[in-house]
Amino acid sequence: MGALLVAVWLHGLKDRHFLLFGLGLISHASGLALVGARGTIPDFLSIQIANAVTLTAFAFLIGALRRFDGKTTPPWAVLPPLLWIIGNLFPFIREDFSHRLMLYSVSAALGFALMSVVIVRGGTSSRRYRFMLSGVWAIHVMSNLLFAVRTWRQDPQDFQDVNVNGFVIVIGIAGFVSAIVILAKMLIDRSEERLRELVRTDPLTSVYNRRGLLEAYERLRSVPVRERPVLAVIVFDLDHFKQINDTHGHQAGDAVLVEFARRAASLIPEGGVFGRSGGEEFAAILRVGEPRHAALVGETIRQSLAATHIAAASTEIEVTTSIGIATMPAGGADLDRLLSGADRALYVAKDRGRNRCAVWTGDKILSVHTDTADLIDDHTDRQVAALRMLAKAASDEHDVLGS
Ligand code: GH3
Ligand code: MG
Ligand code: MG
Repeated sequence: MGALLVAVWLHGLKDRHFLLFGLGLISHASGLALVGARGTIPDFLSIQIANAVTLTAFAFLIGALRRFDGKTTPPWAVLPPLLWIIGNLFPFIREDFSHRLMLYSVSAALGFALMSVVIVRGGTSSRRYRFMLSGVWAIHVMSNLLFAVRTWRQDPQDFQDVNVNGFVIVIGIAGFVSAIVILAKMLIDRSEERLRELVRTDPLTSVYNRRGLLEAYERLRSVPVRERPVLAVIVFDLDHFKQINDTHGHQAGDAVLVEFARRAASLIPEGGVFGRSGGEEFAAILRVGEPRHAALVGETIRQSLAATHIAAASTEIEVTTSIGIATMPAGGADLDRLLSGADRALYVAKDRGRNRCAVWTGDKILSVHTDTADLIDDHTDRQVAALRMLAKAASDEHDVLGS
């Protein structure tokens, strides 16, 4: 099983928890094999080394559990084998069978206790399975401690003297098998979650794809109305993108898409999502306090793109985007109406000369002026400029078009 897990790791070196789980099982098995060879190999190898190797499995397994939760192996992971090694420095332990057996049981109990704590405190995914594993390992802690107490009482002098009862063996085997099954289930859940993530991600830009956006819409729609009563859809269509491809090449076009997605996604406020709906078209879905907050987000992204050229194909490419925005009260939101409203606004933005925002408000479309004099290079002033333009648009009769 350990070899199998190492082989799994070789297929995806990023998933180091597979390697650590594998090494844990291999180390446990090799240690037990050395113990089993007692009498045919030197005692030091079959006693001190063998048990140290068996207990080192805990260090690997703790490392694996932590790695599974994206954390590093803590130095205290080596405590179980360390306790064994230190104990063996004392002759009254090293030279007495029952003392060694007690020390081993206590070290193993410590290992199981550490694993039991690591798994419940590691993360919030697969909560139920974490508690089940923790329970299984807590039972191992108890049975190891009970075994140590019994050994102390009976004082056996070799393996023949130790009468391990069937009940303990059954608990041991059942615990091992159930831990493996639960861990396997957690690993499967993790890969399924990754697959789901992949299905909703655009491979080029790493933002949501159309499917991810649709799922996010359902999620955002059901956020309680109290705080942010408005649902907004913002659609972006890069201007003259075909020309960018024709002039600089398809790869440069791809680089522009990636950079635009990065910039736009970084400007989406908390509780909003951004994705690529297809080709050179993107969309954001937001829950906001009032419609002009959505317009502010759109305008901020437009300016961020227009203000700095994108470096690709060893030149600086000037890129702009036209933006259509639609908002509705979240309570009665309808995706089809939002999308068609945003599309109509986008059409107006293109028609009015591109590199601008237009807002669909249900009965009319406001196109936001882009006064080039207002294009401010200083990033900190951008939002102020955006607000100023929006205020101007709202009071500008000429910009109000009938729907
Ligand atoms: P407009 O300002 O009217 O939007 O003009 P446009 O050229 O952007 O519009 P059009 O829809 O004619 O062209 C979109 C182009 O986007 C055509 C297509 O080749 C290009 N495109 C679509 N997907 C990709 C992609 O993944 N990578 C690259 N490099 N180009 C893409
Ligand atoms: Mg297009
Ligand atoms: Mg376009």
